[in-house]
Amino acid sequence: MSLKKRGAMVILSSPSGAGKTTLVKLISRNKNYYISVSHTTRTPRSNEFDGIDYFFINKDQFQQLINKNEFLEYAKVFENYYGTSKKNIINKLDQGENVIFDIDWQGTEQIIDKRLEYKLVTIFILPPSKAVLYERLSNRHMKDKLIVEERMKQFDKDLLHWKNYSYVVINDDLDQCYNKIINILEAELENKKSTYNKVLIEEHIKKLL
Ligand code: 5GP
Repeated sequence: MSLKKRGAMVILSSPSGAGKTTLVKLISRNKNYYISVSHTTRTPRSNEFDGIDYFFINKDQFQQLINKNEFLEYAKVFENYYGTSKKNIINKLDQGENVIFDIDWQGTEQIIDKRLEYKLVTIFILPPSKAVLYERLSNRHMKDKLIVEERMKQFDKDLLHWKNYSYVVINDDLDQCYNKIINILEAELENKKSTYNKVLIEEHIKKLL
């Protein structure tokens, strides 16, 4: 009897504005990973579609899913609730597909604590500097300086969670950052050689702190 190989779980987290959503899409497309689509109570942005970017639901519906124990993890982020439903994900993993998650540090910690039987790779994406982050956030929220200030404050708090991740990658340049992530994933999942430099990363984090 041949045992089918289980898929791996790859989590990408980052403080707001570090560029993670683009990276998740690129990795999924080029490596054929299944993207976990979360449920959220946040209202859709103009470029977002229900069932593709998120399942957009209201607070009552979210609470019902919590009550029915449907979530692998869930958390409140910036006044909205976000959660990963177990159903789809477990199926894909059991079929041998790798699944990539774009979730925050709270959800990551819940998944780590669950000690599931699937291989887990957790990656924290950071901006090159606070000045660059400020610029990226200002471009994204041009009309709302308050949001920018709030996200900058949140950045200092989020940064403290880097230690819980297996890897930290700096998003200085999208292509380079993408290549670094691919190298990590190939080293972890395909036994290729890793070029990850932990010492450099720790120095970068010291500067940000
Ligand atoms: P946004 O509203 O900008 O799409 O996402 C806000 C934050 O929520 C991001 O850091 C994103 O990674 C996180 N997030 C998205 N989906 C989930 C989820 O299912 N669970 C958790 N814990 N965080 C999520």
